[in-house]
Amino acid sequence: MDSLDSFASDKLAALDAQALRRRLKETERGPKAAAARDGRAMVSFSCNDYLGLSHHPRVVAAARVALEIHGAGSGGSRLVTGNYPVIGRLEERLAAHKGKEAALVFGSGYLANLGVAPALVGSRDLILLDELSHSCMWAGAKLSGATILTFRHNECDDLRAKLAAARGRHPRALVMTERVFSMDGDLAPMADILSVAADHDAWTLVDDAHGLGLAEDGPHAPLEMGTLSKSLGSYGGYLCASRAVIDLLICRARSFVYTTGLPPASAAAALEALTILEEEPDRRARPILLARRFTQRLGLPRAESAVVPVIVGDARRALDLSASLEAEGFLVVAIRPPTVPPGTARLRVAFSAAHSEAQVDALAEAIARHRDG
Ligand code: PMP
Repeated sequence: MDSLDSFASDKLAALDAQALRRRLKETERGPKAAAARDGRAMVSFSCNDYLGLSHHPRVVAAARVALEIHGAGSGGSRLVTGNYPVIGRLEERLAAHKGKEAALVFGSGYLANLGVAPALVGSRDLILLDELSHSCMWAGAKLSGATILTFRHNECDDLRAKLAAARGRHPRALVMTERVFSMDGDLAPMADILSVAADHDAWTLVDDAHGLGLAEDGPHAPLEMGTLSKSLGSYGGYLCASRAVIDLLICRARSFVYTTGLPPASAAAALEALTILEEEPDRRARPILLARRFTQRLGLPRAESAVVPVIVGDARRALDLSASLEAEGFLVVAIRPPTVPPGTARLRVAFSAAHSEAQVDALAEAIARHRDG
């Protein structure tokens, strides 16, 4: 074996020993939270399609029309030829939804987070990052070259103390957090974070990937980032901000400038999904109501969003529990380190407007049986 392959094999063996190796599994999805693996039909509680819009007939039809007119790919970066009118319409609607002057659509949420921080802060500046922030927020923060300090999860006093101690040494400061934490489903104290940031003349970038349409209460940050791939059921990412900030990002965000524009069919699907999301408040309320039904049945802390962690601790136990549920027809994927901190492997249960009460109750019953049995 050459050194490259033996390096890879050694690393894989180490991952295997800790039950941390990841393997791809083919999954098919259908309407009403249906999923299939290895030919076995299941109800998925692991998709981020929170409003069940990825299969909505109007969303699919909008994508199909755009696909037939414009083709499969956008053919170039947006600054060259990949800027289709439907993307501009989507940006106007996203900005209006968030009460901002403007929006910029990126190829994905990950790309948005890679691009925003480095366009606004650099090596002389300071970033304050919630310690549980998503991997792409870390990646964007690192790419900026700024000094990165973390603050304890959702603890504004820690944020204030760290800003007070370090702010004076840096010309600019950026606070980064998530509105709904992707693996814990809890909410950031946005009003307090924004006021602490303002007291120290720091800007705030909030990642709203898991909140759009669902948990949007509370004040908006000057920089509101999100994705088209979860509650909008499509693919792509965005940032909503002032016109000046968006115009600067068009010039400076490298993950915007140097990558191919979003396929127009994805933008058309997201635009139709946003229309439905705004028309149907009951659809928006449903995932959190179902999540609360679930937490109540299991005696877990009351759900704050559509995401509920069932913490197991040990990675192998989390995998075993997930496999037992799969055998009963529930797709609930185990999440292990390094996605979550060591010792906190969990089932991440994601609720959708497409679930029925009976499906939620059946899952709660199955988890209780395996957990307590
Ligand atoms: N931010 C958070 C909090 C996320 O959970 C995710 C996706 N898992 C992203 C950003 C990335 O978004 P996308 O999937 O559109 O790249």
